[in-house]
Amino acid sequence: MAHVTLLGGAVLDTGARADVLLVDGLIDAVGEPGSIGRGERVDLDGYLLLPAPAEPHAHLDKALTLLAAPNPRGDLAGAIEAWRRHSPTMRHEQIVARATEAALLALAHGATALRSHVDVNPDVGLRCLRALIEVREALRGRLDLQLVALAGFPMTGEAGSANRRLLREALELGADVVGACPYLDPDPVECHRICLAAATEFAVPVDLHTDETIDESVLTLPTFARLVTDTGFVHGAVASHCVSLGVQPPEVTAKVAAEVAEAGLGVVCLPQTNLYLQARDRRSSPPRGLTALAALTAAGVTVAGGGDNVQDPFNQAGRGDPLETAALLVAAGHLLPADAYAAVSRSARAVMGLPSVQVAPGFPAELLAIRARSVGEAVAGASADRIVFHRGRMVSRTTVRREFPPLDGA
Ligand SMILES: [Zn+2]
Repeated sequence: MAHVTLLGGAVLDTGARADVLLVDGLIDAVGEPGSIGRGERVDLDGYLLLPAPAEPHAHLDKALTLLAAPNPRGDLAGAIEAWRRHSPTMRHEQIVARATEAALLALAHGATALRSHVDVNPDVGLRCLRALIEVREALRGRLDLQLVALAGFPMTGEAGSANRRLLREALELGADVVGACPYLDPDPVECHRICLAAATEFAVPVDLHTDETIDESVLTLPTFARLVTDTGFVHGAVASHCVSLGVQPPEVTAKVAAEVAEAGLGVVCLPQTNLYLQARDRRSSPPRGLTALAALTAAGVTVAGGGDNVQDPFNQAGRGDPLETAALLVAAGHLLPADAYAAVSRSARAVMGLPSVQVAPGFPAELLAIRARSVGEAVAGASADRIVFHRGRMVSRTTVRREFPPLDGA
């Protein structure tokens, strides 16, 4: 039997109020309030109805480990040290429990699709991936989880043989995407080639941690773009971070942005972790560590915003909320609020290879209802009062009760 839900009286981003009918996972009709007379009604009076966000870059295997893996110095070296100490001790059930909690946190905030990078290296083998595959299957129907096999480095030469073997085993086990950090490899060009060859063989996308540094001498993004163009790679290529692009001279930035556009690479900007980790040793005027948002957008590149690490040694803040990412894109990336929301919703879905969503008939019913009057207010206020719909069904509802009790003697 068809699953039919009527979302009643929501405000759309145009400011108009509407009823929205969801049938079998799709938006079936959008009409004036009271004009649609069927379906199980969910009252959305006071809510703004938006295409749901998606989280294009998480690390669910690391999320919420701050107590277990403390990083008292707070910097990257401290994070790596804390993680090296902690990660070999993690048990399957612990990883499943934490990753599930972090995924549900993102879902409650509205993300009905989430791409998580998952460590695959000799320290942890395939343990994190096995746990995350279990989470992916358990949450199916509630949110779509894509798993990136984040191969260790080096990937090249004799020293890289274990990492290459593990990447292959990860894809055989069921990873959805190829991942790695080519800029950390002694031979970045060859590392890109290995990743693209593996992704081609398994017919999956590739999503690389690209140039996560403010060192302007490190710029592998043009290599990635050129190899995607030259090899005719068609499964979807994403460059995450691209921090060093943001510290290049304008002429270099414009040239690289054009190459990235030509290659059809998606870019994911990760303000939370970039602001946290980059430039910690600069005593004055630290750069923000965000990629070159304006130049990439001007060149026609799809630029998404992601949350990255959440309360782990690599970022001790973060709440797994795409609206937090959007607010950071406004404050630190100088995007307008509506563009920032598009970065964490429309563009995030695009770089993840998912069909686009509009609040209009025929589109997937991936929706966020949030207590707000406009997109700007949703981004700025980030109300926790949210109802989330995935495949046409309500999958999460958070209700906030705020009180201002009478004062004594008043
Ligand atoms: Zn990452």
